[in-house]
Amino acid sequence: MFKKILIANRGEIACRVIKTARRMGILTVAVYSDADRDALHVEMADEAVHIGPAAASESYLVAEKIIAACKATGAEAVHPGYGFLSERASFCAELEKQGIVFIGPKPKAIMAMGDKIESKKFANAAGVSTVPGHLGVIEDAAHAEVIAGGIGYPVMIKASAGGGGKGMRIAWNEAEVRDGFERASSEAKSSFGDDRVFIEKFIVEPRHIEIQVLADAHGNVVYLGERECSIQRRNQKVAEEAPSPFLDEKTRKAMGDQSVALAKAVDYQSAGTVEFIVDRDRNFYFLEMNTRLQVEHPVTELVTGIDLVEQMIRVAAGEPLALAQEEIRLDGWAIESRLYAEDPYRNFLPSIGRLTRYRPPAEGRTGNLVVRNDTGVFEGAEISMYYDPMIAKLCTWAPTRLEAIEAMGRALDGFVVDGIEHNVPFLSALMKHPRWREGRLSTGFIAEEYPDGFAPMKPDRTEEATLAAIALSASLIETNRRERFADRLRAASGTLREHWVVKTGDSHVAVRLIDGLVTIPFDMEMAIEGENSSVVTDWRPGDPVWSGTVGGRNITAQIRPVLNGLRIDWQGLSVTAKVLSPRHAELDRLMPVKLPPDTSKLLLCPMPGLVVSIAVAEGQEVKAGETLAIVEAMKMENVLRADRDLVVSKINAAAGESLAVDAVIMEFA
Ligand code: ADP
Ligand code: ADP
Ligand code: MG
Repeated sequence: MFKKILIANRGEIACRVIKTARRMGILTVAVYSDADRDALHVEMADEAVHIGPAAASESYLVAEKIIAACKATGAEAVHPGYGFLSERASFCAELEKQGIVFIGPKPKAIMAMGDKIESKKFANAAGVSTVPGHLGVIEDAAHAEVIAGGIGYPVMIKASAGGGGKGMRIAWNEAEVRDGFERASSEAKSSFGDDRVFIEKFIVEPRHIEIQVLADAHGNVVYLGERECSIQRRNQKVAEEAPSPFLDEKTRKAMGDQSVALAKAVDYQSAGTVEFIVDRDRNFYFLEMNTRLQVEHPVTELVTGIDLVEQMIRVAAGEPLALAQEEIRLDGWAIESRLYAEDPYRNFLPSIGRLTRYRPPAEGRTGNLVVRNDTGVFEGAEISMYYDPMIAKLCTWAPTRLEAIEAMGRALDGFVVDGIEHNVPFLSALMKHPRWREGRLSTGFIAEEYPDGFAPMKPDRTEEATLAAIALSASLIETNRRERFADRLRAASGTLREHWVVKTGDSHVAVRLIDGLVTIPFDMEMAIEGENSSVVTDWRPGDPVWSGTVGGRNITAQIRPVLNGLRIDWQGLSVTAKVLSPRHAELDRLMPVKLPPDTSKLLLCPMPGLVVSIAVAEGQEVKAGETLAIVEAMKMENVLRADRDLVVSKINAAAGESLAVDAVIMEFA
């Protein structure tokens, strides 16, 4: 076994690999860029080597620097994680030449599977079912039209070198094929430096289901069941699960057998994933093979009990697989939520900055539930604009799917992230969504269920009652402490008001305290809008997480002080609550509603970022949908478009300028 390995990656995946290496008694070397001097993976590793500036193209993507770091530290092998150099055959070949082991497949397999056209041909030859389509390069738009007509609409136009959901277009008719061809090939050219595209049938109501395979250098290949990753936004995965609620034993076995056949056909070794698209009749078609560890691998680990990174390291060291297919059992259900630094209320625009508070829920097993959180950040860390906006991967495991979903909902409710915007409200709302809970999924789920984007949800009457109970209990506990701070816990109840009104959002909820005694921990009978309910919590002032029971139901919510009240975040709801006396509530109703300032004549910068270009000039008339400016943050160019016909009156920013969130880029007449 290796004595020392280097991890050629950053963030959560670097930390995740280090954990397993340490458990196996292997020393670890981290590499880091200027932006990652204080990163968690650097702290966790036994040694760390600085490899250059923040831009990945000058650090994490430079093979020579990684190889030099191996030589300097005596690392015998390299784990590439995902992204970066993980699927670059030339890197893998160069390591081999230098006598350093690549913890992954051989260059030949990476090459065969790296190109979508080539891999589809390979899959066909290995007897794997592929999406019906044309197995060759499309010459031009006219050729695209002919091919699409032959396949039958709708079709998908794809970049052969594509990845990460880029260079892909759906077309429902001839005009869309022509346009889609142009756009897919130019996107492919700019993203991958390779403009070859091909066309295949677009599978309607598709589900993304993938098979995890594991192979050694001695010809043994097994599959570790499937993961379903149908919850996607713009062809990028957001939440995943294992197993899939859609597969039966027969389909699972057929997909597993075909994946093993493909792995054998390319002499695969290490962990890999064969991705399929599955139609509503459970016909499945090969999409691509990812020749690396997958982001969502933890859900497979949770249902199989197998550590995939350990297996990758053992295979790379030449050990034969210790597992036979019959020994692999799928037990229970696991869900993964990807926490991203992005603002769900602003069309998921990236958000960067310092994590002023970062407190993930406790990991580990409690009874029949498991919580796992893979992360690369810590409280006080900076989410920079240079890399992936992923903060953490939160996973839960339980015996059944619904229990795992419930556990995920609670874990998200208790996940405290302050300082940046994040998608926890969206993920929480997803866990409550009836269609998700029923497992009626397709890759179009998010687009279909949230056609106008994600808006803050409105609480119903029952939820308002719960929010009122949380707000009132917190307020009573705080007042009690303020008044009796030096005393012993138990407060006299003599002066406590009996009738209260809790304003949650725009609604007023009447609450009567039945036994007006504030104890710590808090335990009180209340009549909320006439319904009796006991409210129990051990919440203490200053704690951002309120957990307890309302009417016997377990609740975890987050509360933060805001002007004259509290903001409560719970299950995707975000509500400002004010605790008032009935008299104050009456006065409050008479207060004029303060309208937010009118920003309709301004183009505001939606996130902190760099102005790439300003597309218009002062005095210019612009039509709805036209580009106004492009702002870059987190490796992504965000095109800011006119939401209606406008005339530009003043421009306040120029290309190359760094802007804060809400900075005024331009003004309209
Ligand atoms: P997964 O199925 O593991 O989520 P993805 O295709 O989403 O796989 O990619 C995982 C990571 O690799 C992401 O960070 C993604 O941005 C990156 N990635 C994948 N393919 C490419 C590519 N061809 N070029 C650049 N980045 C890529
Ligand atoms: P990438 O390399 O970018 O991950 P994939 O080929 O794996 O590209 O496709 C990414 C996603 O696009 C899939 O998960 C699926 O949602 C969608 N997709 C790809 N091909 C098809 C198809 N033929 N029909 C329907 N959806 C597709
Ligand atoms: Mg894919």
